[in-house]
Amino acid sequence: MYLPMDSQTIRSFVQEHETDDEPPDPRQDDEPPSPSLTCLSTHSSFHVSALSAEASCQAVLPSLCNSKTQDFRHRFYPGLPDARWNSWHWQLQNRICTPTALSRFLDLSLEEMGVFAELKTKLPLGVTPYYMSLLHGSAPGHPLRRTVVPTVHEFFKLPGEENDPLGEEGHTQMPGLVHRYPDRVLLLVSGFCSTYCRYCTRSRLVGRGKIYPSRSRLEKAIDYIRNTPTIRDVLLSGGDPLTLSDAKLDWILGRIREIPHVEIIRIGTKVPAVLPQRVTPELVRVLRKYHPLWMSLHFTHPEECTPEAYDACAMLADAGIPLGSQTVLLKGINDDVATMKALMHQMMRMRVKPYYLYQCDPVAGSGHFRTSVARGLEIIRGLRGHTSGYAVPTYVIDAPGGGGKIPLLPNYVVSSSDAGVVLENYENRLFTYPNPVGCPDGGCGSDNGVEGYI
Ligand SMILES: *Cc1c(COP(=O)(O)O)cnc(C)c1O
Repeated sequence: MYLPMDSQTIRSFVQEHETDDEPPDPRQDDEPPSPSLTCLSTHSSFHVSALSAEASCQAVLPSLCNSKTQDFRHRFYPGLPDARWNSWHWQLQNRICTPTALSRFLDLSLEEMGVFAELKTKLPLGVTPYYMSLLHGSAPGHPLRRTVVPTVHEFFKLPGEENDPLGEEGHTQMPGLVHRYPDRVLLLVSGFCSTYCRYCTRSRLVGRGKIYPSRSRLEKAIDYIRNTPTIRDVLLSGGDPLTLSDAKLDWILGRIREIPHVEIIRIGTKVPAVLPQRVTPELVRVLRKYHPLWMSLHFTHPEECTPEAYDACAMLADAGIPLGSQTVLLKGINDDVATMKALMHQMMRMRVKPYYLYQCDPVAGSGHFRTSVARGLEIIRGLRGHTSGYAVPTYVIDAPGGGGKIPLLPNYVVSSSDAGVVLENYENRLFTYPNPVGCPDGGCGSDNGVEGYI
């Protein structure tokens, strides 16, 4: 089934994946260290005071009892003060980015070891200690483990897979600025992520020093936005914009906010899931100066919805930032109704509106993550009507080649005629909606086929 790459392709793949993955240097940050945010911090409104913490955890939301992280800290970082663990700089400095470091926490499978044999240690591997605490000691098939630990399957390129599946290069006006839709623009501020998703659609760029948050590059991109009055919506992404320092973010957001035709700014980030320690009161003070500011948060699985993630989202939501989620549909990770519904319910508890469910982009080496469109439609059918309408994301395919996002909906229209449509509801019962037959645009009159008078 897989089309194995020939050795030349593997060599160039390896070269392309040679990483220049430098975490931001905290010494260049003129910020004080982050304050301690302990796991069960007092600013969390999660804990239902009427119940004991334990009872509320078990009864309400089992995955929010994060004893996993506590046990992990005791075992691997004994004696580490809370202030260190809860500092995002510490989390970045102690990322797991080599196979040796990885094997401290996980018994690597042959498929996982195989990838390192080929790529040496150059593969952009990165996992924060916090995220590792959610998956250490797990089996190779564990959902979170699969999203961040590479396997040999990354070497296999299926028909139709591309390095740049969304054709972003074709819409790139200058390095890191993708202008596909007339009224909104995607600005890749940095190529760095604290934790790399193995299915990353931008694996051609991220973690490899190809997009650097330099002032001169960003100035040029901001000039482009200033000189393009159709742009009313600017999306900051990357890499993960929230790995920049508060000062840098303040500068970028301030410069964009000065442009009169920019109505809204959006930030796409996975920080609440993989590095919730980054969401500090200082960061929130910076962000809230630039309203209307929206955020799209990348969450993949209910096990990411820990008290830490909850607190991070609460701080952002309390700052008046509308939060939406973006989830990639991943085979064996979240491609069943029960897991997706649980994730969407967790999002709503965290005040995150499920925004998009993405069909996994056909990026080279993503075959083991991709599932069929039929499965995605089944999941949407399993949500709509079966849970809060707010919990149902829009299922989209980002069209290969650069066509933008195209929504997909299960077919609820059984038949359609001039008289009306026959529809199927969530319980598979049929209903008819009558078209206003015989009523002209100006309104209905007595001789226009009216059935009777009310
Ligand atoms: C996804 C995306 C956007 C934003 O799309 P929305 O549907 O408005 O969220 C804008 N530009 C590019 C290049 C994108 O990929």
